[in-house]
Amino acid sequence: MIPDWPSERQRMVDRQLRKRGIRDPRVLDAMQAIPREEFVPHECRVSSYQDEPLQIGYGQSISQPYMTALMAELLELTGSETVLDVGGGSGYHAAVLGQLAARVISIEIIPALARQAEQNLSRTGLGANVTVVCGDGSQGWPAAAPYQGISVAAAAPDIPEPLRAQLGDPGRLVIPVGDRFDQELRVIVRLDGVTHERGATFCRFVPLRGDRGWR
Ligand code: SAH
Repeated sequence: MIPDWPSERQRMVDRQLRKRGIRDPRVLDAMQAIPREEFVPHECRVSSYQDEPLQIGYGQSISQPYMTALMAELLELTGSETVLDVGGGSGYHAAVLGQLAARVISIEIIPALARQAEQNLSRTGLGANVTVVCGDGSQGWPAAAPYQGISVAAAAPDIPEPLRAQLGDPGRLVIPVGDRFDQELRVIVRLDGVTHERGATFCRFVPLRGDRGWR
């Protein structure tokens, strides 16, 4: 039996997002619109809207829907921004950001996953304003900087300096920082030349690799 995906998605939005305090209507609409089942491996499709991370191969995982929604909400996007998505994985998070911003650059370090993300985005018709690149996102992607939003989906030992440098003004950066097991989701807000930083929640992401990641 084929699951009723739109109702499963609706239930996820109500029970996992609204109930836990996601309020931005644009984020709720994007989460209601994007078919997560098209971004997860075939064998875990039935779990697409479960409240848990899912394995996407190569030892990597896609965050639970709530974390994707929270990170998107913390960027406070209005639709005019250029956003950098570090750790593109399956392309799901990039697809959500694509609904919320003008343009998204999604950078993924594992070539096979970058190809997969590109295929997922084009098959679903969600790739028009999303560019997938393969490379080390711990160094950002200077070619399209500055970014009004930067979202990092892998845990960093510290906030990579190149990401700070490529953050615009105004700009918001969301990144899990900590050790390999426990991290805090940090939010860096730059406005009128002043940069503030705060913690949003505790979390657990796969490690950020590359030059400014874990070796
Ligand atoms: N946001 C993704 C899931 C992210 S999992 C989704 O929606 O599916 C974290 C991803 O970060 C993994 O795919 C991993 O390969 C990637 N990654 C780790 N270090 C990276 C780096 N330095 N640059 C780019 N991608 C990186």
